Amino acid sequence: MTIDQDGNRRLLCSMSLGYTAYHVWALRARRERRYNIARFFEASSAVKRVRAELALESLGEVGTTAENIGRALDGLEPVAVATGPVTGTTPLSRDLMSRAARALAEGRDLTSEEIGDLGVCGSCGELVEGTPPAECSVCGTVQEGFLLFRAAEAMGTLGPNSLFKKIEQTPTTLRALVEGLNDEQLRHQVYGHSLKELIGHLSDMDIVFRERAWLILETQSPRLPKGHPPTLDSAASYNVQSISELLDAFQASRQQTLNLLRGLTPAAWHRTGYHEIYGTIPLTHQGNWVVDHERGHMIEMAQIRHNLLQQHNVLGPLTLPSRLIPEILQGE
Ligand SMILES: [Zn+2]
Repeated sequence: MTIDQDGNRRLLCSMSLGYTAYHVWALRARRERRYNIARFFEASSAVKRVRAELALESLGEVGTTAENIGRALDGLEPVAVATGPVTGTTPLSRDLMSRAARALAEGRDLTSEEIGDLGVCGSCGELVEGTPPAECSVCGTVQEGFLLFRAAEAMGTLGPNSLFKKIEQTPTTLRALVEGLNDEQLRHQVYGHSLKELIGHLSDMDIVFRERAWLILETQSPRLPKGHPPTLDSAASYNVQSISELLDAFQASRQQTLNLLRGLTPAAWHRTGYHEIYGTIPLTHQGNWVVDHERGHMIEMAQIRHNLLQQHNVLGPLTLPSRLIPEILQGE
């Protein structure tokens, strides 16, 4: 192994570690509902990924797919090398990290005033805050070659048609998720929350979403209602309602939401409102928010259903994979 190759192996090791660490920290930040900090971690993870890819190529470890299959079968052999510090290695990264630390010390996420959109050069991994320059100051890559981590897309990038279809599908999915379960099972609490509570919670959130969507569509640049939507903790009262009441209530609310959204033009979906954490965001941001929130809870509900059916009639404590802890998706 030449000196160069040694350096590249160290780089590959260091960048791969940084990529994984930032990525997992981003997932954790999302669970804690620190979406702007999560976006910063995701951008940082992309920096490391681009550089790990460059190092792997420099090592001559990337060939044709047929050759790569050969390499994969041979098994890449990791070489243990000391890498030095892996994260927080640039002035901008450390600056963003200090801003995040100050916000967290106050028990909150960064706001749109405290962190701009982020861009990562797809060729060299240079991180920039704000709109990327016409060309990368390090390697000359054009603006279009930057990976973007924009506040407006922090909740997902689905467009109007996909959003409408998913929003329309939820009532049917919810009915399927509770099909054939008895009332004791539907009230059984996992991490403090039963299937009934989760359906009631989704109705609460649908109302918050519809109010915000109405404001964006019907008023000029509204300030979206401040504070948090109802949390799961306020959903305990739903256990005394029957499952058909809960499903009907969700469906009725969702029908009103669909009536508001049906037939909207793309221009209408791109009307904006001001959100205290994300700044000026389009209706598509809030659409992605509600879809992402429901998707997370429906995965959680599917897991609860699966575990309930496996337990037959003996209802003891249920366990869920730790990734499915409900705080994940209470949203903003
Ligand atoms: Zn560059």
